Amino acid sequence: MSEQTIVDFRSLGLAEPLLKAIDESGYTTPTPIQAQAIPLALQRMDLMAGAQTGTGKTAAFSLPILHTLLPLASTSTSPAKHPIRALVLAPTRELAIQVYDNIKTYAKHTPLRSLVVYGGVDIKTQTPILKTGVEILVATPGRLLDHVEQKTLSLSQVQFLVLDEADRMLDMGFMPDLKRILALLPKQRQNLMFSATFSDEIKKLADAFLNNPTLIEVARSNATNENVEQKAYLVNSDQKQRFLVQLLKHYANQQVIVFTKTKLSASKLARALERDHIPCSAIHGDKTQKERIEALDAFKAGTINALVATDVAARGLDITDLPLVVNYEISTAPEDYVHRIGRTGRAGAKGIAISLIDEDETKYFADIEKLIKKQIPKEKGLINNSNNSSNSSNNRPRTTKPARGEDGWFQQPYQPAAAVAVQKEALAKPSSAKRQVVAALLGGFGFKASPQTRQQARRATPKLASNTDSQPTGNSELT
Ligand code: AMP
Repeated sequence: MSEQTIVDFRSLGLAEPLLKAIDESGYTTPTPIQAQAIPLALQRMDLMAGAQTGTGKTAAFSLPILHTLLPLASTSTSPAKHPIRALVLAPTRELAIQVYDNIKTYAKHTPLRSLVVYGGVDIKTQTPILKTGVEILVATPGRLLDHVEQKTLSLSQVQFLVLDEADRMLDMGFMPDLKRILALLPKQRQNLMFSATFSDEIKKLADAFLNNPTLIEVARSNATNENVEQKAYLVNSDQKQRFLVQLLKHYANQQVIVFTKTKLSASKLARALERDHIPCSAIHGDKTQKERIEALDAFKAGTINALVATDVAARGLDITDLPLVVNYEISTAPEDYVHRIGRTGRAGAKGIAISLIDEDETKYFADIEKLIKKQIPKEKGLINNSNNSSNSSNNRPRTTKPARGEDGWFQQPYQPAAAVAVQKEALAKPSSAKRQVVAALLGGFGFKASPQTRQQARRATPKLASNTDSQPTGNSELT
């Protein structure tokens, strides 16, 4: 079916209670991934879908699942009438909660029940609801297996399996957990896999878990967002830190995530930046959840403008509208670049991604360019000695006004956690106008957002992500 033939959700053939919920959510038109995935999923086909968060992928898999399960829905209070029929696996607790919130919204006019389980909280609080029976379970892999071990749930009647952000799950070392979970599921089931990138590993995962899947993509695989301006500087390794300081001072007042390859280099770099009067914090696998939340709160409040992060840690963060990303150390895995720069330029906003390449990293950067099928303009990174010496008295405070001609939006600070909580509440009951804006930004059909509403959408609230799942089985020693 071509995307152009779909004009609204009704023509997708979804059941009335779902259409009502979609309408109340203010969605007027399916996003491209929804227009492609929903008809195929309704035909009970396995899908391997290339789509990032923000494309409307959650509705793309949950609406057809809810539609197919609807005839089996029961109003009975007996737990036996509510077996787990759909299992949605997500890599992080933050994503799992987000997916669950969406499913609850779409299912609100049906008797279908859903629940989310994730690590980092007392398992006993999740058990009583599980025992009452739920048709749709959203889970992080580690916590799901905890429940399996405690015999607090049964997966013997699962008809749908969704692997959401499959690439992240592999990166976080969940493959052994996934294999264990898969072995517990009935063979006869429909599988829907979503991934932002299509590496060879993902293709292997698809081969192992999916049955003759149909491939759908809303954008070229491993494509990098057109809204993100990508630049690179060639810098000697012994000058990298000084060059970064100079760069961050140039982009003073802009919120930035600086990526390193290891926990050790993240910590070291954060300390060095602080010595250079750049307030910042490091986020990596050795930080506790409390420390991560504190760092994020400080970041969103504007107390610090820079977060130094490893890849794995950064994937647990959902910060929308980040204007700047710096690749301080180039990852040896080219897919990481796509993830890193995907932190900026979200929901139609503009972003800048700057890579600092030293003599040992040119080959890794060449691999990245091959992957994204694009040459990134490179300049020699020169140190300006007048204002960049370490601990220099010329260091500008980070309250410098934006340079003339710079986009003023970049200078807007994030809101503190309290403001986010209020906005989160407001987002739970979205206005129709807000949803239309999102649909337009996501490439929904037939809607043109006014400049005013586009502006509103660009200022969307950053979301605070919490921790990842209880304990990935894989080795995250470095990150
Ligand atoms: P997701 O990619 O699933 O995380 O969705 C991103 C955002 O888009 C969520 O806030 C959804 O509520 C919203 N959304 C999903 N589908 C639509 C649609 N068809 N129209 C407007 N907003 C949508």
